[in-house]
Amino acid sequence: MGRDALSEKVFSFSDELQRMGCLEDEVPKPNLRNEIHPIFRLDRWMGGYGQPTEEIYPRMKPALRLASLFLTEECTLHWWTHTMLGEEMTAYHDDGSGRTFRYIEANPEEFTPRGRSLARTKLYEMADVIMLMFTPERYKDTRDGKAWGMCSNHSIREFPWAQHFCSRDFPHIPGKYMQDKSRVPEITFSHKFSDFYCNHYTSSSKCQILRVHFMFAMTIMHELAHAFHMFIGKDNGHKEPLHNQFDRYAELGFSWEIGLTGRICNPLFHTLRDVHALFSVRTYTWLPHELEKVAEVQRATRYFRDPESSVRFRAIPIDASLDWVPTHEWRGVQYFNAQQPECPTNYMCIVVGIPMQWVAAWFLEEEWEENRRFWAKHHDDYGSVRRRTLFMGECWSLVYQKDIHGRQSMWVASR
Ligand SMILES: [Zn+2]
Repeated sequence: MGRDALSEKVFSFSDELQRMGCLEDEVPKPNLRNEIHPIFRLDRWMGGYGQPTEEIYPRMKPALRLASLFLTEECTLHWWTHTMLGEEMTAYHDDGSGRTFRYIEANPEEFTPRGRSLARTKLYEMADVIMLMFTPERYKDTRDGKAWGMCSNHSIREFPWAQHFCSRDFPHIPGKYMQDKSRVPEITFSHKFSDFYCNHYTSSSKCQILRVHFMFAMTIMHELAHAFHMFIGKDNGHKEPLHNQFDRYAELGFSWEIGLTGRICNPLFHTLRDVHALFSVRTYTWLPHELEKVAEVQRATRYFRDPESSVRFRAIPIDASLDWVPTHEWRGVQYFNAQQPECPTNYMCIVVGIPMQWVAAWFLEEEWEENRRFWAKHHDDYGSVRRRTLFMGECWSLVYQKDIHGRQSMWVASR
């Protein structure tokens, strides 16, 4: 499982990935000191069968601290204020097809200090209600057990492993939420995380541990994005809306990841064991006359053509008999290519090797201090959000392209 052609190809460049800082590197130790948000309090986690949370909680703390910052810092709150205070609207696609889509329209209040304080309070309220758990080991290969994370408002009692729990294993839910459970989010995290923190943490390198903390924090935030929409009572049985009208696919979890980190990260071979360097993947489809999309592709490939760039960009041979389109196991593929066009199109997929320095920076107090200074200097309360983005530099990248006539090519950018 997980050993698709694209992953194998990426892995064959491990020397270059090492040189580009994606595998092992001298990284600073996480030093976040902020308080852990009450959403992640130990008593919000299920106890009992297959739940080692109490034992691994101290090891999970760097990931929980990072997730807590995303829920409380002024500079990261806009995603939540927009979701909560924006209005869900229906609009027509501009292709004349008459098809409609739902999206969240901005509300001036979401940019204000009051808007941020409302969202922050709502997130604290969610801490009284939410339930968190891990998939028990015996169920890790079942349909429900395979996901990185899952959020729903009725899942725990319906999982095949629910039979193993007794009433004292459940977190306390205040009475007012018990009548109508539609606002009670239940999140289940992959067994991969609990297994790593339990069994592989002490034998792993600093970089491996950081990658797991980062993936755990991303998975937590992804699921909390779904949970929040549920908790504020906007879920009411509809499909989620687009987070804004420019998104292509309605998936609030991925919209949070893209919005806050600029990418959707995946460990190599989709596992947290052994070599699990992180990569982000982004795919593009376009027809020659779709000028907006052509411009987007040109922006995405700009640095490959930049003579000043420090990475060298070279074509490599490609085995045309293999399937190079990333499988659904690559997180985020569905987000970028929501509707696979039926007619032939140009197709491009860019896989970026994530430098460990970038991963490490998220866990540094100094970086968050910079984020706060930048925010204080640049934000305004009248409809724009300017947040500092963590600089990633020029990265190892693999580009696969298939043109409208079916011709395939592949390039690698590295130093
Ligand atoms: Zn999701």
